[in-house]
Amino acid sequence: MLDGKVAIVTGASRGIGRAIAVNLAAQKARVFINYRQNEQAARQVQEEIVKEGGAADLLECDVASPDNVAGAVKKVLEAAGHIDILVNNAGRTRDNIFVFMKESDWDEVLDTNLKGTYLMTKAVIRPMFKAKWGRIVTIASVAGQYGNPGQVNYSASKAGIIGFTKAVGRELAERGITVNAVSPGLIDTEMSRSLPEKARQEIVSQIPIGRIGTAEEVADAVSFLVSEWADYITGQVIAVNGGLFM
Ligand code: NDP
Repeated sequence: MLDGKVAIVTGASRGIGRAIAVNLAAQKARVFINYRQNEQAARQVQEEIVKEGGAADLLECDVASPDNVAGAVKKVLEAAGHIDILVNNAGRTRDNIFVFMKESDWDEVLDTNLKGTYLMTKAVIRPMFKAKWGRIVTIASVAGQYGNPGQVNYSASKAGIIGFTKAVGRELAERGITVNAVSPGLIDTEMSRSLPEKARQEIVSQIPIGRIGTAEEVADAVSFLVSEWADYITGQVIAVNGGLFM
């Protein structure tokens, strides 16, 4: 149980982030639901949590913007006094084969996925130092482990997250802060639904467990990593991919 803990989940207005927010709130954490644009969707997540007896607040912020991030973290500290858990989930894709990949596609993906992770993590570690306790989990991807054609920018950002997790994990371990990553395979969300059906089916045919994963299955791994069951785990990448990559 996460009674008394305050969590920020980035990109929690839908998909995997939504499932993580709902799961942490069910364990009694107070969850700040970060969204960038879609306030209505974020509000629905909040309503769902409150209906189940949980506590949730909305937090508008573009994780790629240093000013937005500073303002958002200040807001959480003013409202809740502390931040115990950060889940860096916000992510985006701008797919194209490498020869046609524009610099703006590269920047947009790296700015959200990797720089956003850096900015959010940097902004929460001082409050975590103070408490001598913290749990940081970032959502990587199987693409960062084996490299997806058509996703050079995305794969680089997710591989960057894995290196980031290990290096920051080493630096913060003595301070009572663990830093881990969860690396999903193909998960049924809007992001993966944008893939052509043929491509989706081709990936599914390579998954030993034989089906696409659910957002809730990723959220379960995140919940494990922030729980007391994972106190001795840091710098790790937990794959939730049905065996797609071993
Ligand atoms: P979705 O596209 O369904 O949701 C992404 C979320 O991130 C949205 O809430 C979106 O909000 C938010 N977001 C995007 N950019 C920003 C930003 N700059 N600041 C704040 N929020 C932002 O994706 P998924 O739920 O599928 O993916 C969640 C994470 O899991 C991502 O990091 C993704 O890379 C990773 N992942 C997903 C896999 C899959 O198969 N679905 C597989 C492996 C990894 P908005 O609409 O406002 O931009």
